[in-house]
Amino acid sequence: MIEFMGLYPDELKKVLSDLGEKPFRAGQVFSWLHKGAKFEEMTNLSLALRQKLSENGVDQPVSIRESRVSKLDGTEKFLFALRDGNCIEGVLMRYHYGATLCISTQVGCRMGCKFCASTLEGCVRNLTAAEMLGQVQCANRQLNGERVHNIVLMGSGEPMDNYDQVVRFLRLVSHPEGLNIGLRHISLSTCGLVPQMKRFAEEGLPVTLSLSLHAPNDEIRRQLMPIASRYTLAETLDACRYYIEKTGRRVVFEYALVDGVNAAEENAEELSRLLRGMQCHVNLIPLNTVKERNLFGVTETQVKAFLFVLEKRHISATRRREMGDDIEGACGQLRKKVLQEE
Ligand code: SAH
Repeated sequence: MIEFMGLYPDELKKVLSDLGEKPFRAGQVFSWLHKGAKFEEMTNLSLALRQKLSENGVDQPVSIRESRVSKLDGTEKFLFALRDGNCIEGVLMRYHYGATLCISTQVGCRMGCKFCASTLEGCVRNLTAAEMLGQVQCANRQLNGERVHNIVLMGSGEPMDNYDQVVRFLRLVSHPEGLNIGLRHISLSTCGLVPQMKRFAEEGLPVTLSLSLHAPNDEIRRQLMPIASRYTLAETLDACRYYIEKTGRRVVFEYALVDGVNAAEENAEELSRLLRGMQCHVNLIPLNTVKERNLFGVTETQVKAFLFVLEKRHISATRRREMGDDIEGACGQLRKKVLQEE
């Protein structure tokens, strides 16, 4: 079955003409699909064409299997069902500047970061661009009226490990005839696949690049993230500088504070030296405790002390708000819980 939503307009034209249709129908089908319509709702197409489409492919590759709304802040956590029975997570956060959706790029993940729940069972498969778009459309339907305004690729999976489909998704989601979400409203987070980061800098896609840094030196980073044994911090930061140079956009460094590992004031000093002079911003996150791995979050006082050092050293930094703490808001937690319950 063809996932029509994952096709560029030109490809859709080709597919339609192979099905014996006039190519100009592609524009209509494209805009319907990206509005989230089902084939049966595409009322300006003939019944015959609608039937042909549904015999040959799918309109909506993702559906909502379960959703929980946080009583604390209205954050909504989704468990999305895919057509092959797999499931993935997404989180919808309501900010004053608009709804932000966090989407997954793979079922599971194979990067093996010690603190991350998404990677515990490895990577099952890559998501297609259509499945990434489908997550946005599910959220839009749920928002009734309002629309997703910002997207972060920070759910399960490593986007740079599913490069082609992620790039396809970015081009489609920002397409003027489609959802038309500005690339500047999209953030992509990576654990640091250096060659792909460099290639990505050359795509001409001005999204915000977030790097999961989590350590001020190679030694600590290697304790937390296997990728750190493949690429040194020096190489990784060079790739970030290249991204800044090519896109003119600052890079965001994600730094999860892990008690007794990377959260001391001396770590903050070392981090400041590492990032000095870079066009960047540091996002501090108290780690969501992972008991299985003996990794624990930090207190508010520790966050403040760490932040204080960065500020003193003129490194732009904020503490990321935790949202949806009561609904397994963090990466991979809901999927893990539901899989365990089954
Ligand atoms: N694979 C990508 C994107 C998905 S993870 C990446 O590594 O960046 C999204 C963010 O959540 C990353 O910064 C990741 O390091 C962080 N994260 C994962 N588990 C976490 C936890 N238990 N506590 C806090 N942050 C976590």
